[in-house]
Amino acid sequence: MINEPIEELTNCRICPCDCGVNRYTGRLGRCGAGSRIQVNLHQVHHGEEPVLSGCQGSGTIFFSHCNLLCHFCQNYSISHQGWGREASIDELIDMMIDLERQGAHNINFVTPTHYTPLIREAIIKAKDKGSKIPIVWNSNAYEKVETLQTLSGLVDIYLPDLKFMRENAALLCTGRSDYPDIAGAAIKEMFRQAGYLHVDKDGIAEKGVLIRLLVLPHDLSGTGAALEWIARELGSDTAISLMAQYYPAGQAMQQHELNRGITPREYQDAIRCLEYWGFENGFVQELSCSSQWTPDFQENE
Ligand code: SF4
Repeated sequence: MINEPIEELTNCRICPCDCGVNRYTGRLGRCGAGSRIQVNLHQVHHGEEPVLSGCQGSGTIFFSHCNLLCHFCQNYSISHQGWGREASIDELIDMMIDLERQGAHNINFVTPTHYTPLIREAIIKAKDKGSKIPIVWNSNAYEKVETLQTLSGLVDIYLPDLKFMRENAALLCTGRSDYPDIAGAAIKEMFRQAGYLHVDKDGIAEKGVLIRLLVLPHDLSGTGAALEWIARELGSDTAISLMAQYYPAGQAMQQHELNRGITPREYQDAIRCLEYWGFENGFVQELSCSSQWTPDFQENE
C-alpha cells in the first residue's frame, strides 16, 4: 500500500532549524532524516529514572538522527552517524505493542522530534488498538511550540533534556546559539500540556514533566541558571533529574572544554543549587563518568 505523503515533511519546518526541504525527494535537512522513520533499537530499559523504569523497565525506542547534534552526544553513532533501520508506521506500532506486552511501564520515544508527524500517527493508531501505557516524549527540547501543540492529549510524560542556558555554550557545543530561548518556550508548552509529575501508588510516573539536567564540565550546562529559571518560571515542585553521567563521547575529545568528565566539586555545586532553589521532587545520580548507561547500539545491517 502506498501511503499519502505527509505534508509537514514536504517542506520540513518541524523543528526550529526550519530547513524547508522536501524529505520525500532525498533532500536532507540538518537532522539528516528522510521521510521514513529510522530506529536503531527498541528495548525494555532499566537505566531510566526510577519513576520511569520502575521494576519492569521503560519501553524505549531509540530513533536515528537528531536535529540538535551536540558534539558530545552519548548516542553519537545513531544521532550523528544515523545507525539504524527504516521502519513503517505499522512497524513502529508493532514495536510499541511488543514493549507493552513485555510489561514495560511506558513507551519512551528517545530523540523523536524530527519524526513528530509520523510518531503522532503511530500513537493515535496504537491507542486505537488498545495501547494503554503512558507515552514518554524524551527529547532535547529544541522544538517548536506549534509542533509540540500537535502532541497535546497524545503525550503523557514530557522528559526534556534542558542542555544549555547560555547562548555561547549552546553555540560551542551544537552550533545553535538560540537553544536557550527555544528550549525555554518548548518546556513551558510541555508544562502547559502535562503539568507537574504525577506518580501512581507504586511510584510509577503517569503524567507530567520531568526535566533532565546533564551537568557538563566547566558549567557549560549552566545548571545553576537552569534551576533558577525552572524555579521562577515553573515552580520548585517541578521534578528534576540531575545527571552526573557525562563522559566525553562523539567529537568531545577534540574540544578541550568537553574532553573530561565532571569533577565531584562540579556535581556537588549542582546539588547545592538544587537544594538552594528548594527542589525536593527529583533524582540525583552517583558520579559516574562512564558509558554504563548507554545502550549497545547496532551498526546498520
Ligand atoms: S526536522 Fe530535520 S529537516 Fe525538518 S526542520 Fe528540523 S532539522 Fe530540518
